Amino acid sequence: MLRIAVQSKGRLYDETMELLAQAGIKFPAVKRTLLVPSRNFPVEVLYLRDDDIPDSVATGTADVGIVGMNEVLEKCQQVQVLHQLGFSRCRLSLAIPRDVAYNGVQWFEGKKIATSYPRILKGFLDKNGIKADIHVINGSVEIAPSIGLADGIFDIVSSGGTLVSNNLAEVEKVIDSQAVLIGGLGKLATEKQEVLDELIFRFKAVKAADGKKYLLMNVPRARLDEVVAILPGIKSPTILPLADENWCSVHSVIEEANFWDIVTRLKEAGAEGILVLDIMKMVP
Ligand code: ATP
Ligand code: MG
Repeated sequence: MLRIAVQSKGRLYDETMELLAQAGIKFPAVKRTLLVPSRNFPVEVLYLRDDDIPDSVATGTADVGIVGMNEVLEKCQQVQVLHQLGFSRCRLSLAIPRDVAYNGVQWFEGKKIATSYPRILKGFLDKNGIKADIHVINGSVEIAPSIGLADGIFDIVSSGGTLVSNNLAEVEKVIDSQAVLIGGLGKLATEKQEVLDELIFRFKAVKAADGKKYLLMNVPRARLDEVVAILPGIKSPTILPLADENWCSVHSVIEEANFWDIVTRLKEAGAEGILVLDIMKMVP
C-alpha cells in the first residue's frame, strides 16, 4: 500500500482528488478519517495541512505527497520532485503599494516585508545583496502595507486580483509554482515502487489528454491534401475510406485552444460532418 499525503482541504484538495479519480483511483464517498484507503488501487491517502506535506514525505510518514512547489521550496525538506502535475499554478512575487515609485530591487533595501515564505524571500534578497526586515505572518499578508505593518509583501499571486483590490502592484516575480508529486530521497520497497510507477504512468496519461479533442470529419478525396495541411496532428491523421469512394473519413487530435480556428478552416477546405469528442486518456 503506497501512502500519499494530500491537502485535507483548500485549493489543492479538489484538483488532487479529481486527478486521482481521473486516474481511476476511487475512494469512499465520505472521508471520516485522516487515513483513507482506495477502494480499487493499493494506495491510501493521508490528509494533512499543505505545510506539513513536505515534512511528512521527508520523514517517511507518507511515501509520496502532492503539494505546491512553493511549499516544497519553503520547507526545503529532504524530498525530490517526481512529477509536475500542472495544476494550482501560481507565482511568488514581491508587491508594493501601487502609488509608490519603484526603482528596482534595491527599493527593498532597509524595508520591512511581510510574508509567509521567509526562506524563499531570504534566498532572493541575499542573491540580490539586499538587507531587509522579513516579517513573518501566516495569512492575510496582503493587508500588511495598508495597516502599516510592512512596506511591501512577498506572497502568492495568480490572477493578481487580490493585489489590485489591496492597492498593491507586483514588482518582482521570484518563483513560479505548480502542484508537484514529491517523494523521499530513500529507496521505496519494490511493491511500493511498482504502485508509484503505475500512478505516475496514469497521471501522465491524464495530463496528455488534457486540453485535447478528437476530431472526425468527412472530406472529399480531391481536397484531402488541403485538409491534412490544416491538421497539426500528433502523428499523421488517420484516413479511412467511405462507401462513396469520392469521400474519406479523417480522424485527428487537436488542441482545444485552436479548435474554432481549425474547424473554420476545415469547413472552408470542404470538410463536412465534423464531430468533436472528448479524450479521456492518452497513452503514448
Ligand atoms: P492549509 O490549511 O492546508 O495550510 P493554505 O491556506 O496554506 O492551506 P491554500 O490557500 O489552500 O493553502 O493553498 C494551497 C496551495 O495552492 C498553495 O500553497 C499554492 O501552491 C496553491 N495556491 C494558492 N493560491 C493559489 C491561487 N490563487 N491560484 C493557484 N494556486 C494557488
Ligand atoms: Mg498552508
